[in-house]
Amino acid sequence: MKLDPDLKLQILEKVGIYSNRFSIQEPKILFVTKEVLDMPREMTDGLRTSAYKYYGVSYLQHNLVFINVRKIPDEKTLENTIVHELIHMRFPYLSHGKRFNKLVRQGLREKTFSPYKKRKEVLPH
Ligand SMILES: [Zn+2]
Repeated sequence: MKLDPDLKLQILEKVGIYSNRFSIQEPKILFVTKEVLDMPREMTDGLRTSAYKYYGVSYLQHNLVFINVRKIPDEKTLENTIVHELIHMRFPYLSHGKRFNKLVRQGLREKTFSPYKKRKEVLPH
């Protein structure tokens, strides 16, 4: 998609809306690969020079999300990518799979999620 100020604003609005629904702190959004490369190296560790290959990348430790707008073909894929990345933020312990995809579908259907709480360790007794 063509990245212009209007689209940027639309994306930030969507991120705001979904962040509220998912009870997460709104992440900082990067829109182009150059911004990924300009971030401090430790913030984008692991997915830096290869980030351009993906529609989106979440840097969970730093509450940072890359939305690869120029690679994304259409509005529907954009919406999916935003929700996908924000589900990573809300469910940091979940990897891709059935459960993850279900949460993405629920997110797209305007479901709200309560804040993430780290589970207390259960000690054997
Ligand atoms: Zn993912």
